[in-house]
Amino acid sequence: MIKSKYLENLIDAITILPGVGRKSAQRMAYQLLNTNPEKSLHLSQELKNIDTKISKCLVCGVFMDIEEVEKQSSNSCHICERQNRDTSIICVIESASDVYTIDESTNYNGYYFVLQGNLSPIDGRGPSEIGLDKLEKRLSEKNIKELILATNTTIEGEATAHYIKNMATINSIKVSRLAFGLPLNGEIGFLDNETISHAFNERKIL
Ligand SMILES: [Zn+2]
Repeated sequence: MIKSKYLENLIDAITILPGVGRKSAQRMAYQLLNTNPEKSLHLSQELKNIDTKISKCLVCGVFMDIEEVEKQSSNSCHICERQNRDTSIICVIESASDVYTIDESTNYNGYYFVLQGNLSPIDGRGPSEIGLDKLEKRLSEKNIKELILATNTTIEGEATAHYIKNMATINSIKVSRLAFGLPLNGEIGFLDNETISHAFNERKIL
């Protein structure tokens, strides 16, 4: 039984992190208590900065420093501000960190749109909770020709992709989805049946 209500509060606060249950949160809280106070104060300052120093690009939704926004007197990030972007394509992504992964690994030069996670009615995340109302507005206002769905291949990611596909079809916009299949340098014998089935169905003519 924990005797400190502040320790109890700290454990509760840590459980908001994804994949962290109460036991892990408890372990982390004790680690923080046993660490150099300077380090835990540094962590608390960084957490405070989430609210005061970091903002979101109004166009795509990636995170950016508020200082940058003030300096360039624009609410869009350096990716959206790049020269010669193809304004007719939007790549829809579940998490802001995936934008950098795709941007660094491909020569894609359209726009991005970051969702606030995926659809999960059971957790209270409907279309407007994940920003699909904003995406719909953008699709109906701008001259968008193609939507690339880069949501995760989880059940929720698939449901989200399906919902967005219908939304795009209503607006007569072409929809594509990142390919599923064999990983590079992978061996077929080590793959699960679902991945092999997807790769088989998505095979292409050489
Ligand atoms: Zn942006």
